[in-house]
Amino acid sequence: MNAIIFGAPGSGKGTYASRLQAKLGVDVIAMGDIFREIMKEDTELGRKVKGCVEKGLLVPDDIVIEVLKQRLNKIPRGKGFILDGYPRTLEQAKVLEEIAKIDVILLQMVPDWIIIERLSTRRICKNCGAVYNIRFLKPKVDNICDKCGGPLYQRSDDTPDVIKKRIQVYQEQTSPILRHYKEKKVPFIVSSITALETLPETVLEEMIKELKRLKLA
Ligand SMILES: [Zn+2]
Repeated sequence: MNAIIFGAPGSGKGTYASRLQAKLGVDVIAMGDIFREIMKEDTELGRKVKGCVEKGLLVPDDIVIEVLKQRLNKIPRGKGFILDGYPRTLEQAKVLEEIAKIDVILLQMVPDWIIIERLSTRRICKNCGAVYNIRFLKPKVDNICDKCGGPLYQRSDDTPDVIKKRIQVYQEQTSPILRHYKEKKVPFIVSSITALETLPETVLEEMIKELKRLKLA
């Protein structure tokens, strides 16, 4: 199964992607994580990417596409993947079609008020970028990352006003891409969350049921 997962910041898509990875044995390609790693490297690419991010610019499509291609090449034959954080532009979506077949779109629909509530309780590892939630996804030790032992912090843009703006940016960026996949008749699995207490397990079970129905799991 080759899938793309879409969802606003705070929709939990990263969590679902990693749980699907564990359950279905697919690879997760999280572009945000990949670029965080690249920026740490003292290479020409690392410096270029860092320069863009520091100036608040988007990383140019040609760089993003090249990085994606390299990452896709590392996937063993026959193993599927879930893409998270790509494509962000129609151009990126079109390039992807030339290198891989997409079987399904996993779309997370979460109302704004839930996202705001969730993001304000979110904590991120300063070292590896792993995401926690002090209510729903606690680390084993307070403020310490389970994966690498790094310190957890709260992002300065996890405030209601900035979150609303980020949701708006996400919607503007994503709607033409979703429209594109609908026109291409790629199947969608839409997970709609309506309550704050909905457990990730419940959403995940539904998702897997749908994937089975589509014969992708
Ligand atoms: Zn960590």
